[in-house]
Amino acid sequence: MDFCETAYQSIGTRLAAARAEQGRDVRLLAVSKTQPAAAIRAQYRLGQRAFGENYVQEAIAKQRELAALDIGAEAIEWHLIGPLQSNKAREAARHFDWLQSLDREKLIEPLSRHRAGAPTPLNVLIQVNVDDEASKSGCAPEVVADLARRVAQAEHLRLRGLMAIPEPVPDVDRRRTAFRRMRALFDALRAEHAGVDTLSMGMSDDFELAIAEGATMVRIGSALFGARPAPSPAHGR
Ligand SMILES: *Cc1c(COP(=O)(O)O)cnc(C)c1O
Repeated sequence: MDFCETAYQSIGTRLAAARAEQGRDVRLLAVSKTQPAAAIRAQYRLGQRAFGENYVQEAIAKQRELAALDIGAEAIEWHLIGPLQSNKAREAARHFDWLQSLDREKLIEPLSRHRAGAPTPLNVLIQVNVDDEASKSGCAPEVVADLARRVAQAEHLRLRGLMAIPEPVPDVDRRRTAFRRMRALFDALRAEHAGVDTLSMGMSDDFELAIAEGATMVRIGSALFGARPAPSPAHGR
C-alpha cells in the first residue's frame, strides 16, 4: 500500500471509531489545497468524494483536470474553505457545491445572483472567528444569527451550518472551549433554521476532540495527503 491508501484507511478507522462512540455520522472532507490533481484522483479511487480547496483558481484548474471522473452520481463535491474575496464571488458560486467561509453580508447577494441557473443552490456555512482574534477571518459570534437569516433568505443559497478554525493552541482545554462555543452557536442556529445540519470543525491534529464536542464534518489535509508542498506565488488566490 502506498502512503495515500494507508493514510486513508487509518483516518477511516479512527473516524469509524469516533462515529461509533457518538452514535452518529460524521463526514470527512479531504483538504487537497496545494496538492496536485493526481493526489485527489488517488483518494477518489479509494472512495472519497468530498474535497476542500482554499484557493478558487487552484481549484478550478484541478476541476478541469479531473472533469472525466467528476460526473453524474460519482461527481466530486467541491468545498471552498479558504477566505473569499468579493471579486471571486462569481467563480465561487459557479465552481463549488459548498462555501464554508462566508463571513460577511457583502458576499451574500453576489453569491446568490451568480448561483442562479445552477441545478442546486450553493450550500453555505458561516465561518465564525471563535477565538475573537482580530487577525483571523470569520465573523464575530455576535453576528452569526443576523448573517444566517440573510443567507437563509437568499434565493440560490442554502444555509447548512457553521465552520470554524480554532487557534491551534497546544492546550487541549482551550481548544475544547472553542469547540464548545461553536457547538452552542450551532445548537442555537439549528433551533431557528430547519435544514441546518453541519458543524464543520476539527483538522488533522484535533478531529477526534472536535467530534467529541459535536463536529458533524471534519476537514483533514496533512494526515491524508502528507505534508503540503509549499504554496507557490502562481497559485493565484
Ligand atoms: C488546510 C486546512 C485544513 C486542513 O488542515 P490539516 O491540518 O492539514 O488537516 C482544514 N481547514 C482549513 C480551512 C484549512 O485551510
